[in-house]
Amino acid sequence: MGSESVRVVVRCRPLNDREKTLSSRMVVSMDLTHCQCFIVRPGAMDEPPKQFTFDGTYYVDHTTEQMYNEIAYPLVEGVTEGYNGTIFAYGQTGSGKSFTMQGVNEPAAQRGVIPRAFEHIFESIQCAENTKFLVRASYLEIYNEDVRDLLGSDTKQRLELKEHPERGVYVRDLSMHTVHSVRECERIIEQGWKNRAVGYTLMNKDSSRSHSIFTIHLEIFSTDANGQDHLRAGKLNLVDLAGSERQSKTGATGERLREATKINLSLSALGNVISALVDGRSRYIPYRDSKLTRLLQDSLGGNTRTLMIACLSPAGDNYEESLSTLRYANRAKSIQNRPRINEDPKDALLREYQEEIKRLRAQISADQLSKAPPDAPPREQFTSLEIHKEKIKEEYEERLSKLQAEYDAEQESKAKLLQDMSALQSSFESKLLYLEQSQASRGGSSPKKVNPSIMTQDVVEEEQGMVDGINPTAESSAIEKAAVGLQQGEDEDELKETNDDTAAGGGGGQMDKRHVLERLQQLEHEVVGGEQSRNKELQQKHRLRKNMADQRKAQLIRALSENGEESESVLLNVYNSIQEEVHAKSQMLIKVQVKLKAAKLEIRDLQAEFEEERNDYLATIRRLEKEGQLLQGLLERMVLLVRRDCNYSSLDRLKKEALWDEENTVWRLPDVTVQKTTLPTAVGQKLSACRGSGPEGVESCTVEEDRYKEMLDRSESENIASSYFKAKRTSQLLGGGVFSAAVITSPSVPNTTSQLSVSGSHVSSSVSSDSVLPRPFRLQSLGVSMSSGKTKRKKGKPHIPGEGL
Ligand code: ADP
Ligand code: MG
Repeated sequence: MGSESVRVVVRCRPLNDREKTLSSRMVVSMDLTHCQCFIVRPGAMDEPPKQFTFDGTYYVDHTTEQMYNEIAYPLVEGVTEGYNGTIFAYGQTGSGKSFTMQGVNEPAAQRGVIPRAFEHIFESIQCAENTKFLVRASYLEIYNEDVRDLLGSDTKQRLELKEHPERGVYVRDLSMHTVHSVRECERIIEQGWKNRAVGYTLMNKDSSRSHSIFTIHLEIFSTDANGQDHLRAGKLNLVDLAGSERQSKTGATGERLREATKINLSLSALGNVISALVDGRSRYIPYRDSKLTRLLQDSLGGNTRTLMIACLSPAGDNYEESLSTLRYANRAKSIQNRPRINEDPKDALLREYQEEIKRLRAQISADQLSKAPPDAPPREQFTSLEIHKEKIKEEYEERLSKLQAEYDAEQESKAKLLQDMSALQSSFESKLLYLEQSQASRGGSSPKKVNPSIMTQDVVEEEQGMVDGINPTAESSAIEKAAVGLQQGEDEDELKETNDDTAAGGGGGQMDKRHVLERLQQLEHEVVGGEQSRNKELQQKHRLRKNMADQRKAQLIRALSENGEESESVLLNVYNSIQEEVHAKSQMLIKVQVKLKAAKLEIRDLQAEFEEERNDYLATIRRLEKEGQLLQGLLERMVLLVRRDCNYSSLDRLKKEALWDEENTVWRLPDVTVQKTTLPTAVGQKLSACRGSGPEGVESCTVEEDRYKEMLDRSESENIASSYFKAKRTSQLLGGGVFSAAVITSPSVPNTTSQLSVSGSHVSSSVSSDSVLPRPFRLQSLGVSMSSGKTKRKKGKPHIPGEGL
């Protein structure tokens, strides 16, 4: 299994209005033929620029179309062959990540990578021969380290990450949506986009504060020349990362600052993963440090082809961020992945579908054979019908693809074409009707006669393809024969439900024929593929784009190898004279000296940057420490107010019992439990009297017990005036501890033991809670009326509202 490195390209956007108003200088430049990117420090224009080489460089006036065709195309094409692929955009907020990934509709050349990938995938699917595809999509976001399903029923729900030995890391309960066309994909992404968390910062008011991953999952079922079936699976992750920027620069505060901290933490984790992968000595790769790195685990050092698009702002005031992006990208180039075709995936849904389709087809044929009239040879009749249908279908498909080609070429003659198409549709329908009628007149009960709404998949697809083609607003509508807006069967759950029904019905023996056909139709609707396999023009276009990407790759390899060869040739050359040699070598020396100077500057800058980054981290640590101290202080005070018979009254014990759940990165805390206090023996007689009287007796005893306990509690608090001060005096005398005040809480609080609130910061929790708790009293021995207790309390120190609760 061969390995290949992560492909990295950089894209520099034009100066935006804000930067133009500030008269920012352009500090980024590019050598497009050698794929080099240069950046100079503002205010130090005499210093040699820092230089980076990538797999592609795209400057301010380049389009997403160009970038896609040159570098993304082969990766996406690989997904339709069964490879995994990931494309992610990286860069500071406002550098053009979303512009690159989502894009804009106008101009068309700037449509984003995501819609282009949709079109590309469906074009490949429709051109594929003898291959069927099951296409599903999912869309999630990571916001404040929580994973959320943007297409789920509850988009705010936190989802868990799980690991499977074969599937790798996956998101539990993430919804998957079967898609049949580009338009369905677009609809889905639009729906998800609306559910994304968007924050506002000074850098870019539309910038997203969350990372989002749109994934297209393909299952590919093909039959080779020998009639052998093959099942493969590929998936394409399209990742739009949240921006990275210094917190001080964005002016973020409060919730925005918290978000920024999380974003930076996950981006640092991504950086650490990249560094660890690149550093050959490092055995441990810290994927687990963030949700983002866990989800991208397979894309960084795994079984995936990965493309990173590093987005830059050209402005001088973004120099630090741009340089840091370039460094990040430069490191990522060295990551080695091991992509391979995913053959025979175990959990493939398509396998189940195909098997069921085969079974249902067999059932239909058997059914039709058994119902054929005795005077006509049944097999022959069925086959001739099939042949006829096949012929009509072929004829129709051929004509449709021809029309499609015309449609593309002559956009202006849409009306005429639509006429042709509807004529074709009606002739097709009439032929089918004729066939049905002739079949019916021969006595065969055709399925369509039973219910005209039930048709075989071919017919439904053809008809719906025609309807689709009539839509004049959609440019590629006729191409997408599968773009049938099939609401029916779109939802996976719905399909699974029917799947279960069918299985149950099938298991029971004879399944209702109508159901069989419906089920077959539903299943066949789920898969797409090969609709344009006869459209020569589209096939040609597809091949051309593929070749273009290959040519560009060869060109790049040549350009990159030229860089290295130059210095070698100077040393190995045979010179005619010493002067010539001296001249060539001194030229070489000058170049090397410039490089040396650049390297020294680089070291200096790296150190300065490291210092700045360190300060950023330290500020975060200090802030977290402050927060921690506040919480600790609050806890220490509050724990005194917790009932002693509750397990949450001891912080130390709780800390010991708390477990860190690595998988979900949360603390698992023990449940809150309150221990039952055993009652004093004074009421033993009554208790023993009700013992052994069955479960009801036990219950009534428990109620009784609680009542006694409540009375006891009350009596304790009522007597606290005499008992508490005794205890306090003793503890004061023995331990020398000083309580500045002790307040008795209201006894009217139901079901509570006497609670004491102790003010004074110097009282340690364990000493105070132990020493101030009253001993239990026997009910009979109290001899003090409730009202007198209340009077006494009123005379004591006034109750401080809010304390002791
Ligand atoms: P990010 O997602 O990185 O935060 P955006 O993609 O939202 O940034 O881009 C910020 C702004 O810059 C947007 O208004 C976008 O239209 C503009 N922009 C980004 N890249 C380009 C480009 N290559 N050409 C023209 N405008 C661009
Ligand atoms: Mg964005």
